[in-house]
Amino acid sequence: MRDLASSEDGEKPPSCSPAKALKAFRPAGRGFWANVPEAEWNDWHWQLRQRITTVEQLQRLMPTLTPEELSGAKLANRKLALAITPYFFTLIDPADENCPIRRQVIPRVEETYVAPWEMRDPCGEDAHSPVPGLVHRYPDRVLFLATDRCASYCRYCTRSRLVSNASGYDFHPDYDRQIDYIRQHPEVRDVLVSGGDPLLFNDDKLAHLLGRLRAIPHVEFLRIGSRVPIFLPQRITPELCAMLKRHHPLFISIHSNHPRELTTEAREALGRLADAGIPLGNQSVLLRQVNDRPEIMTAHVQKLLMCRVKPYYIYQCDLVAGSAHLRASVRQGMQIMEQLRGHTTGYAVPEYVIDAPGGGGKVPVAPEYVLSRNAERVIIRNHEGQIFEYPEASDGTPLKAPPPEKEELELEPAPAAAP
Ligand SMILES: *Cc1c(COP(=O)(O)O)cnc(C)c1O
Repeated sequence: MRDLASSEDGEKPPSCSPAKALKAFRPAGRGFWANVPEAEWNDWHWQLRQRITTVEQLQRLMPTLTPEELSGAKLANRKLALAITPYFFTLIDPADENCPIRRQVIPRVEETYVAPWEMRDPCGEDAHSPVPGLVHRYPDRVLFLATDRCASYCRYCTRSRLVSNASGYDFHPDYDRQIDYIRQHPEVRDVLVSGGDPLLFNDDKLAHLLGRLRAIPHVEFLRIGSRVPIFLPQRITPELCAMLKRHHPLFISIHSNHPRELTTEAREALGRLADAGIPLGNQSVLLRQVNDRPEIMTAHVQKLLMCRVKPYYIYQCDLVAGSAHLRASVRQGMQIMEQLRGHTTGYAVPEYVIDAPGGGGKVPVAPEYVLSRNAERVIIRNHEGQIFEYPEASDGTPLKAPPPEKEELELEPAPAAAP
């Protein structure tokens, strides 16, 4: 076994410069796991069993751990669980303290620093939970928390109060009550199954859950929120895709933040989902020193399109306790949006939202393109800063046009029908 840090074969994770990030679909070598047979490496159960979950494992695999990371890792598992799949771990550049992959999954001591405005439940989900494990925030749709486990844990997790690292993948303890609530609420036409990560269930369990939701007549639309295609692409098997296909219309929202996460493995897993007819969207969280530069985000959204994923949302990082070191400013978020709209493919442009603290829901935050507006006209600017005037449409009363010339009224005689 080679050590990941020694990099004897000269393989280095791809640099995160946008140009290179766009091209490099191939991650670094497997480092520590170089000798693991292909069949094991590609087995999602193996990846889960071999996850890095303790500070001792982390130290052994990454001797370049900084003092901040080391004390963070020692405290992890008390607050937010520590877990990283071997696959995702190989995307970390051990030589780069500011590696954008590393910042997302390696704990830091700053997680214990809590700003006065930070919260345990930043989006007020518990207050909008009619039944444990169900959040009914918007009129026609619910968030269904199927499990409290994830393949790896994001250090800025908005549900860090809920997720755990216990073993065994079972439904939420209030599973039947969750289903009953939806059955009794005909206004719920859209169910977003998330967690935790629902794609950690085995195929049969997930099929059971989707089947029970599909059996409710007023549930039209199903969605799964998952980071599994990014943390554990091995899970996206042909069998899983064949099962998901039976529950259409079904969308999947993935979560990726940086172009380097879109490896060959991830692209192929996403391709299998897309081939099963599943429309794919991506949700990114705006994170300091991860994706808070316009050129990184541009490379990321363009690469998502190459993976057949539509960038859906960029979230301002929720005010979850201990996340200040990962939080970028709203100003940066708006600058990124300015640099996307008009400058790249419209399909690549997500919506930037703040999930309002305390439970207000998602609020779009866009740069201002309407400079002024009155009953007669709107003044707008484009992505190049040019200013335009657009006449406001009337209330529908037809304008008085001058009477048309007589000849214009005479229609050509219709051609005779063919015999
Ligand atoms: C984000 C979210 C949804 C889904 O919102 P969309 O804008 O339709 O994607 C539903 N419920 C809750 C509680 C959410 O946070």
